[in-house]
Amino acid sequence: MLKLRKKDTVIVIAGKDKGKKGEVKELLPVTRKVVVMGINIVSKHKKTTKEKPGGIHKMEAAMSISNVQLVCPKCNKPARVKVLVQGGEKMRACKKCGETII
Ligand SMILES: [Zn+2]
Repeated sequence: MLKLRKKDTVIVIAGKDKGKKGEVKELLPVTRKVVVMGINIVSKHKKTTKEKPGGIHKMEAAMSISNVQLVCPKCNKPARVKVLVQGGEKMRACKKCGETII
C-alpha cells in the first residue's frame, strides 16, 4: 500500500528541491512516482494550438516517491508512517506522535 495520498503535505528529502514542502497533486502508483505542487518544476516548450498559445509552460514533473516523505499534520515534522487497521479500514499513523492521519 502506498503511504501517500492526494493532498498530503510532503517534504522533499533528495534532489534539487531537497527541504521544500508541497502538497501531493498526483500519485502514479504504477511507476511509484508522485507529483508535488511547486516542486520539481520543469519548463516545457509547447507549440501553439487553437486553444492555447505556445511558449514555455512551467509544470511539475513526477518524481520518485522515495524522494519525498510525508509531513505529519500534528507534529509538523517529516514522519515515518505506520499502517493500522481499524474497523476494517486502513489508517495511517505518525510514528513520532502517534496521531492518526486520514
Ligand atoms: Zn506526528
